[in-house]
Amino acid sequence: MIRGQAVITGASSGIGAATARRLATAGFDVVLAARRLDRLAALATEIGGSPIELDVTDAASVTALAEAVPDCAVLVNNAGNAIGLDPIAEADPEDWRAMYDVNVLGVLRVTQGLLPALVASGSGHVVVMGSTAGHIVYEGGGGYTAAKHGANALAETLRLELCGQPVRVTEIAPGMVATEEFSRNRFHGDAERAAQVYAGVRAPLTAEDVADCVVWAVTRPAHVNVDLLVVKPLAQAAQHKVHRESN
Ligand code: NDP
Repeated sequence: MIRGQAVITGASSGIGAATARRLATAGFDVVLAARRLDRLAALATEIGGSPIELDVTDAASVTALAEAVPDCAVLVNNAGNAIGLDPIAEADPEDWRAMYDVNVLGVLRVTQGLLPALVASGSGHVVVMGSTAGHIVYEGGGGYTAAKHGANALAETLRLELCGQPVRVTEIAPGMVATEEFSRNRFHGDAERAAQVYAGVRAPLTAEDVADCVVWAVTRPAHVNVDLLVVKPLAQAAQHKVHRESN
């Protein structure tokens, strides 16, 4: 059964790639969008669907995406990034700007671009990949938590504004997810520092765990809106309360 077209931003790695894989298995015609077209093309060859180059910070790139996907039923706004772990006293405003551009304005641009198609589908769904960082703050995380709080505000506002229209809005807010690139990029390629994030945590969430949540939310009956799904590994009882085993 073809369930319609599903666009996944940031589908070239981590949670986005896993989500594309699961949505394809669930019967969606997937559109894989990110900047690294070679990775998208390889995944599309494996699972089916269409790769498309997209930079969510570039309005023209988003317009091209919208033109390429006239029949979108599901949009997963997953593209995101974190930069550094600097305290407010030392943080570089350019890092904050870059995080806001991808995590908030990126969601705004792509949602605006695809909203007409989502409404016209008669049963559209916008998923925003938020984070527990969009609901609580932590030291050094000011720029990322501000951006993810922004993504949360966008999702909540959009749901209010679309009330009465056939488009659901869901925020998925994961805690600690061990993906290959996210923390490495956060620390500018420092793999050792990235590994520290997950040190001693027996089983952080995987990209597949989060993809499961997305697929569950979008495959509920059309009148069921999952507003917010917070998901954390068992070892993470709260943002600061993480059980770490020493070896
Ligand atoms: P990854 O770094 O593996 O994936 C990020 C994806 O975003 C990549 O596919 C990247 O593709 C894409 N991307 C980045 N910038 C742009 C851009 N300007 N335009 C288009 N695509 C872009 O991270 P994760 O899979 O771990 O994270 C995915 C989402 O989940 C993010 O929104 C993140 O904030 C959120 N999240 C992650 C958690 C974690 O612990 N890992 C926890 C909670 C939330 P490319 O470089 O090819 O453009």
